[in-house]
Amino acid sequence: MEKSQLEIIAEHLKDSGALSQYVGEAAPPEHETAYALCDIIESAAKLVDEIFPKLLQPSDGEIYRNALEEFREEMRHISYHIRESQYLSVVIDTVAS
Ligand SMILES: [Zn+2]
Repeated sequence: MEKSQLEIIAEHLKDSGALSQYVGEAAPPEHETAYALCDIIESAAKLVDEIFPKLLQPSDGEIYRNALEEFREEMRHISYHIRESQYLSVVIDTVAS
């Protein structure tokens, strides 16, 4: 049986020791982080491959506004996974104001 990308990433995260400080938290940190990374990459791919090209195309106002809204929704999804991740949330916590 072929491993999913999520399983592969979780295994690599565990082997790397990068998340050792988060061991003992509610969920195994490699699973939570792998899930966040996979979902973020999925949204990033959608932004690059589907939504950004729409913003480059000439279109009427409504189509353009819809594409822009799709862009924002993917950013919301990415932002959610950053905030929810023990490992990734430091990106937000350390942003200078
Ligand atoms: Zn998600």
